[in-house]
Amino acid sequence: MLKTNAWTSWTENEKEKAFDFAEEYRRFISVNKTERKFLEASVNMAEKQGFKEISKFNKLSYGDRIYKINKGKQAIFGVIGKEPLELGARFIVAHIDAPRLDLKPSPVYEDEGIAFFKTYYYGGIKKYQWLTIPLALYGIVVLKNGDKINIEIGDNPGDPVFTITDLLPHLSKDQLKKPIEEGFPGESLNVLAATIPLKKDKEPVKANLLRLFKEKYGISEEDLISSEFEMVPAGEAKDLGIDKSLILGYGQDDRVCSYACLRALVDIGKPQKSIFCVLVDQEEIGSYGSTSAQSTFFQFFLEEIAEKTDYRRNIRYIYENSKALSADVSSLFDPGYKEAYDPKNTARIGHGVCVERTTGGRGKAGSTEPPAEYIAWIRKIFDENKIHWQPAEIGKVEQGGGGTVATFLARLNIPTIDCGTGVISMHAPFEVTSKADIYSTYLAYATFYNA
Ligand code: MN
Ligand code: MN
Repeated sequence: MLKTNAWTSWTENEKEKAFDFAEEYRRFISVNKTERKFLEASVNMAEKQGFKEISKFNKLSYGDRIYKINKGKQAIFGVIGKEPLELGARFIVAHIDAPRLDLKPSPVYEDEGIAFFKTYYYGGIKKYQWLTIPLALYGIVVLKNGDKINIEIGDNPGDPVFTITDLLPHLSKDQLKKPIEEGFPGESLNVLAATIPLKKDKEPVKANLLRLFKEKYGISEEDLISSEFEMVPAGEAKDLGIDKSLILGYGQDDRVCSYACLRALVDIGKPQKSIFCVLVDQEEIGSYGSTSAQSTFFQFFLEEIAEKTDYRRNIRYIYENSKALSADVSSLFDPGYKEAYDPKNTARIGHGVCVERTTGGRGKAGSTEPPAEYIAWIRKIFDENKIHWQPAEIGKVEQGGGGTVATFLARLNIPTIDCGTGVISMHAPFEVTSKADIYSTYLAYATFYNA
């Protein structure tokens, strides 16, 4: 079902299934807005479907459902297949981090009787989009004794929210003349946090804010140094459009692919080949950390599987015979900005999961360019299973570009192609996806796991 609008070819029953799946997804992303929360909820979902921590197994056999977590921010879920590992496995890798505003290690300051949080944006954002919207604060503080304190403010009933202010239009003559990049410098993304002063203090409003932190959570200003605080858009993801065909929500890049590949994995019974869903952190900042796609955690996990399935050969044979999808979102043609896209090679909303051969930019730099033989195999399995899918490219040549985790699998000698849901307004506080594409993505991943 190449380049076909899913809504015009699906039966009423199929449309209903797409809406039901999207509703479960909408609820999931509404309450899991950080990589830690997403991972925790993923583990809960998997455990309900019989998945167990790999350390609980001495030996692994056909049908065993396993997972392993890395530092609370990365995980691999897997089902052991009927075939020996040597014949290859199926991997889908998706990232669970999303663009946001992180608090700096010493975030709190006071200026003219107002307390603010200083932030440093995480991932590629258009900074002006993050002004004047309600923001929620999520994070953990780890004390020197190892205790972890969870803090969530902004999404529970009765919670206050935060915001970054903007200059009123009446006084914006100079601001509006500046190029956007200069008009909104990163250092000015300061979050309005409090205004009530504590008596007799040099910085009374800041002092009062820190007092509230101390009373409510038992943490001091110094403790914030060992914290992970993320400011994200407050509020739940919503149905969008009078026909409710779309979803508007935060962090869909790449929780839409993460959710779809995890669901595809846990919904499968006993697969022919061993199948894995790898959820990684730090994709939006280049995948350099210990919980990213470049961490040796992935290889270490495979070695543990090999050991517990009595696999004796070098692990590289598994790679050589495996196949992978880099489950990442693609950009969709946005008619409001036609000049940025190549209309013949950009994906269309509602036309199914995107398959992206070329990522990167500037002479394909950073792209993994999977062999045509692999793309032919993907075409075959998707067409045979009536998957709505479309080839995709991010936009016009030399207009920009972007990388994905595909490169970190490809370098292990696993053929890998980017395959995921299309998004409009990517990296904006609220991104747009189509329920037809979300459900097609899920079906595509299930097809891949079964192929
Ligand atoms: Mn991204
Ligand atoms: Mn992504």
